[in-house]
Parts: sequence; structure tokens; C-alpha cells
Amino acid sequence: MIPVVKPFLPPIDEYQSLIAGIWERQWLTNMGPLAVKLEEKLQSRLAVSNLLFVTNGTIALQMAIKALGLKGEIITTPFSFVATTSTIVWEGCTPVFVDIEKDSLTIDSTKIEQAITKDTVAILATHVYGNPCDIEAIDAIAKKNNLKVIYDGAHAFGVKYKGKSIFEYGDISTCSLHATKLYHSTEGGFIVTNDKELNTRLKHIRNFGIAGFDKFSDLGINGKNSEMHAAMGIANLKYIDSIIEKRKKLYDAYTKGLASFPAVQPCWRAGATMNFPYYPIVLESEELLLAVREALLKDDIHVRRYFYPSLASALPYLPKQEFVVTEDIAKRVICLPFYYDLTEEEVERICGIMNRIN
Ligand SMILES: *Cc1c(COP(=O)(O)O)cnc(C)c1O
Repeated sequence: MIPVVKPFLPPIDEYQSLIAGIWERQWLTNMGPLAVKLEEKLQSRLAVSNLLFVTNGTIALQMAIKALGLKGEIITTPFSFVATTSTIVWEGCTPVFVDIEKDSLTIDSTKIEQAITKDTVAILATHVYGNPCDIEAIDAIAKKNNLKVIYDGAHAFGVKYKGKSIFEYGDISTCSLHATKLYHSTEGGFIVTNDKELNTRLKHIRNFGIAGFDKFSDLGINGKNSEMHAAMGIANLKYIDSIIEKRKKLYDAYTKGLASFPAVQPCWRAGATMNFPYYPIVLESEELLLAVREALLKDDIHVRRYFYPSLASALPYLPKQEFVVTEDIAKRVICLPFYYDLTEEEVERICGIMNRIN
């Protein structure tokens, strides 16, 4: 079986030796030494100002919305994972969708201003498949209209834009460290902000709003993560360069193997480094996509329609809306199997099957 994703696992003895330390200290959670160490390592690896390790990427988004005190309409993308939208609704705000750019698949900044009303408070956009949004345009619109900006960087681990970590842009950026992501801590996530005060507030929010002995500062939640998860994050971090290097090889193998296949890749933003979290392609038609899925499935090879359907048309708790580019792309995009253990031979086999259909 070839799944669409498979988590990377570090050598078990390296994980076990970190776990042995937890047994010695008997400190399992609540900002333990491994969680603090992971934060320090990530902060220095990514070169970001303030980073908080949290439960998961979803809680990270909820905490971001809460910490910025957002109430009202939040402009967002219909082409993302459901958590980008559901967290807005969960926090009592209203998502207002704006269509995406057909090349980058990120939110179309030229359509944001017409969606702004007197109730708009923020923009929450996703760096889709790690590809940065049109950051300068979004920043300019936000400044002009006095809006906050949150970036869902769940796919964007390690990406740099114009020489700076992608997580340094916007008021707050979030990342997911879920097992299926490029880099993971089993479950987990982090929040980055370069605003010191905001970081302190987020710290309190992560810990039930507790701001010290006998003192509460904010409405909080339990956004902490455990020592076991931090151990996985630390063990995996050592391998991140070889993980990305291997993924680049697989990426090149796919691109070569599919050179004459009628599909295109999302266009990567100029000025951004690539991190190879997925291998997405936009096929010529939905018909071809379904044929590809069926042919691969016969060989027990699994692809995923990631992201389909559009968040603007599929969520039972929101009115249905259709956006021309999003509807069209969502019908034609798939992610092919892509993970560290995948071999170049397997990629060739997958490309072979696809090329025979065409
Ligand atoms: C995975 C993902 C999330 C949610 O992260 P979890 O850690 O699974 O909660 C949010 N947004 C996007 C774009 C994602 O891909």
C-alpha cells in the first residue's frame, strides 16, 4: 500500500532516551523542560522572535483570534483545511470568504478590499501548501483599513520569505505539528508573534488565563502540550534537513515523471524558499482526476483531494457560496503520495500509471 502521507519517525532509541529523562524527572506536562527546550530549538532554527509550543494548530488559531480580541467579520480563504474556517466560527466571529489566485492558490489580495465592511476586524489567510500569500499587499490593506492579520502557516514550516522566516509576518502566525505535517511532534503546534506584549498574553491564554500566583489576566484555555510530544518534536528536529532534502528529490522525480502529463503545479511565490510539504497538481479536468484516482487505487496507491470541497460551499454551519476560481481549482487538484519513506522507484511507478491513463 502507498498512502498519501506517512509520518516520519526518528530512531526509536533516540526517542526512548528522551522519554527516559521524563521518567527520571516525573514532570509530564505544564511547560516542562523538554517543551521549553523545543521552543528554544525552534526559535533558533526558524530565527523567530517569540514562539509558543501549543496543543495543536487548531488551538493555535483559536488562541490567536482570542489574543487579538477579534469580534466581527474575518476575511479568509475558502481554499484551506477546515480548521482555518471552523476556528473563526468557534471563536464567535463571522468568516467572510474571498476567492483565491488561480496560480498561487492563496487568497486573492485584489479582491479583499471589496469584502471589507464596517464590521471587518481581521484577515486570516493560509500559506497554501507552504506557498506564501501575497504578504505585502495584505499588509498594506490591513494597515490602511486598521485590520489585524493572522497567517495560518500549518504547511509552511521552514519557509523563508525575503530572507525572513515566514512566521515573522502578520500580527500572529501559527503552525501545526501534526503527525501528517512536514515536521511534527505527534500532535502539536506553535504560535509566533514579534509583539512582546501579545506574546505574554498568549502565554497566559495557553495556561487558562493564569498570569502568576493567584492572578488571572485573560480568558484562557488549556493550550499546553506534553513532554512526550515535545520529545518527539526534539527527536525529529535533528532530521529536518534530511527530510526536506529527500522530499526535494521526490519532488523532482515527480516533476520529471509528469513532464508531459496534462497538469500544472501551483506557482510558487517569488522571493520564498520551498519546503516541499506536499506534491499538489492541478489536472486538466475533474474527469481526469477521477480516472487517476481510480487507476492508482487499483494498485493500492492513495491520493487525496486536498482541498476539496471548497470551505465556502461545504460546511453545514455556513450559508453556501461559490467562488469561481476556488470551485474550479478544488475540483481539479490532488495531492500525490509524498513522504520521507517513499522511494524514487515508487514515484516512477505512480507517474507510469498516470501517464498510461492520459
Ligand atoms: C493541519 C492544518 C491545521 C490544523 O492543525 P492541527 O494541528 O491538526 O490542529 C490548520 N490549518 C491548516 C491549513 C492545516 O493544514
